[in-house]
Amino acid sequence: MKLAVASGKGGTGKSMIAANLAFTLSRTEPVSLVDCDVEEPNLHLFFPGQGTPRDVTVPVPVIDDSLCDRCGKCGDFCQYGAITVLPNRVLFFAELCHSCGGCTLVCPKKAIREEQKRIGTVSLSLPLPFLDLFTGTLDTGSPHAVPVIREAKKQAAAGDSIMIIDTAPGTSCPVVEALEGCDACILVTESTPFGLHDLQLAADVTARLGIPAGIVINRSDGNDEEILRFCTDHDLDVMMTIPFSREIAAIQSRGDLLCRARPEWQKDFMGLWVKCRALAGAGP
Ligand code: SF4
Ligand code: SF4
Repeated sequence: MKLAVASGKGGTGKSMIAANLAFTLSRTEPVSLVDCDVEEPNLHLFFPGQGTPRDVTVPVPVIDDSLCDRCGKCGDFCQYGAITVLPNRVLFFAELCHSCGGCTLVCPKKAIREEQKRIGTVSLSLPLPFLDLFTGTLDTGSPHAVPVIREAKKQAAAGDSIMIIDTAPGTSCPVVEALEGCDACILVTESTPFGLHDLQLAADVTARLGIPAGIVINRSDGNDEEILRFCTDHDLDVMMTIPFSREIAAIQSRGDLLCRARPEWQKDFMGLWVKCRALAGAGP
């Protein structure tokens, strides 16, 4: 089973939910926890330990000026504006290139070859006996999060563990890539006008992708009527509500897990897991 944990906005506690769920489940069965928030991965803060990083690379074109006759075919082909052919030279903008390989194929002079360029890493650590943590990290300045997310998910899928994927916040391409192929999704929100607005966007994305979603309300102050109304109107189950609590905030701020510091919460997270399985049609 592949379960995503997503949220329309940052700071809702999405990573906290993913980490506590993974911690609880890994007490009895193998879990692969995948940090797909590659621009700012943070699950390793809950599970400190030495990881083994592997480079993620993508092919980028390299143009041999001595073979090029400036015919312009590569620039015409590139839909991303990554190549501009001038009368006396060809300009390549690496940050716009999507590594499709098309320019190499269309060049009649064979003046373009491909070179692998590193854009980030995927690191594997084993913080608990039944828990593998895969951390995708995008290199600073690299604009292409999607290949790093894809690689992190691919490495995690090599076993047959339960996979829990912590997506980036928001609804952009990296979130869609992380959600792709998931059986169910937890949408984490909070009872604020921003929380509701961004929940609406995130729920729209999961609906469009055909991924069953359920809601976790975090830091609830008890005034959840607007969120509850939205969930009723859109047939979304509120699977868990975590109250606003100074104690919970203190546990998290010292990098601890709620289910480790207060083991009685493990029952709640097991209950959340049962609801997620039901969402995915996997039974109790
Ligand atoms: S297609 Fe090849 S020959 Fe034509 S401009 Fe591009 S690199 Fe040069
Ligand atoms: S590999 Fe694709 S995206 Fe990159 S420059 Fe060539 S045609 Fe454009």
